[in-house]
Amino acid sequence: MQSVEEALEQVLKAAQSRSPVKVPSRDALGLVLAEDVASDVDSPPHDKSIVDGYAILAADLADGPAEFDVLEEVTAGDVPHERVVSGAAVRIMTGAPLPEGADSVVMVEQSELRAGNGSTLGRVLLNPSQVTRGQNIMRRAVAMARGDRVLSTGHVLRAIELGLLAEVGRTEVLAIPRPRLAVLATGNELVRPSEKPAPGEIRNSNSPMLIAAAQTAGAEAIDLGIARDEQRDLEQRIAQGLAADVLVLSGGVSAGVLDLVPAVLSSLGVEPVFHKIRMKPGKPLWFGVKRHDAGRTTLVFGLPGNPASSFVGFEVFVRPAIAKLAGRSFSPSETHAQLTGEFTHRGDRPTYHPSVLAEQGGERSVRPLRSQGSGDLRVWAEANCLACFPAGDYSLAAGEEVSVRKLS
Ligand code: AMP
Ligand code: MG
Repeated sequence: MQSVEEALEQVLKAAQSRSPVKVPSRDALGLVLAEDVASDVDSPPHDKSIVDGYAILAADLADGPAEFDVLEEVTAGDVPHERVVSGAAVRIMTGAPLPEGADSVVMVEQSELRAGNGSTLGRVLLNPSQVTRGQNIMRRAVAMARGDRVLSTGHVLRAIELGLLAEVGRTEVLAIPRPRLAVLATGNELVRPSEKPAPGEIRNSNSPMLIAAAQTAGAEAIDLGIARDEQRDLEQRIAQGLAADVLVLSGGVSAGVLDLVPAVLSSLGVEPVFHKIRMKPGKPLWFGVKRHDAGRTTLVFGLPGNPASSFVGFEVFVRPAIAKLAGRSFSPSETHAQLTGEFTHRGDRPTYHPSVLAEQGGERSVRPLRSQGSGDLRVWAEANCLACFPAGDYSLAAGEEVSVRKLS
């Protein structure tokens, strides 16, 4: 039986980044950019005021407060028509272009309107405690100049980057597309979540869980429903799933009489890479690769049916594979924390245990939850991490450090 590390290395070796495609920027959240992006504008496009106030010549306030004739008012979206000369000011709003001649802006909070001089805009007293030339002005192109590279190949597109793409007029970008992942549950005992289970039946909880997990990992997930533990049905649905980049099956990979998944996968030309891993839960996990014509491949994961086994198998192997297909590097969010109480580990496989991680004043503590085994999904709803215990029979005292993997 292989170790988790050896198995993960094989999975990552088989997972190759997808080829870049043109994607509308509005659909590109979370994708990896596959081109350098240059700005087609100066930002800001003009010298602009960064406050609401009065554009003036700083020298006019060198001897303290002074009164000014207000020549005009410029709001964002307008262009100024008047030139600022000594003794004159232009009322200006945040973002509006600075009028010619002006070298500073005084905030409206440091002004007092005076009786009019006949003109509609009147006079204003400006009384800032001090003035420096250039104050409250953002110069044209200081953020970026036309032609500047603003994003590089490999950059992950988050909300901020989508804003930046919009600013530079890019409604489409070259990016690594989301991996397409298909989920197939197997088992004669399974009914849809909308159905009431008859005696002997249970609801299919794995598919919704795996689809959601795949989405959080950055994949586009489709649901292939439930396959009966029967060769024909399995073959048909698996064949459909092989159109995806990743096919995730749950159930049917253990040693039961109806565990037909590995044999059906092999008969459909999926080359087995490994079956069974030294880990708990998740030991019967199966992994293989289908090589299609034209170099396309489908990674196939046969996760054990127990919900906790499926979940851990997904976190440990499928999530990293999705990241690699999406052109991202993957490193689990790992840390160390002190046990809140004694913990006894038994068995020759490393264990991933549902646990609660708490951080307080720089100290991290971890509380393993009392689980009824790998069928106990309820307790997992309380967990925010997996505590990782090495193989062996031993007891750890409260306060001892264990390795912890945060759940997303
Ligand atoms: P298997 O790996 O097919 O032997 O299934 C192991 C256990 O997991 C059995 O108790 C199944 O009933 C349960 N199980 C299998 N598939 C699912 C599923 N999709 N949702 C919830 N439980 C499942
Ligand atoms: Mg089964």
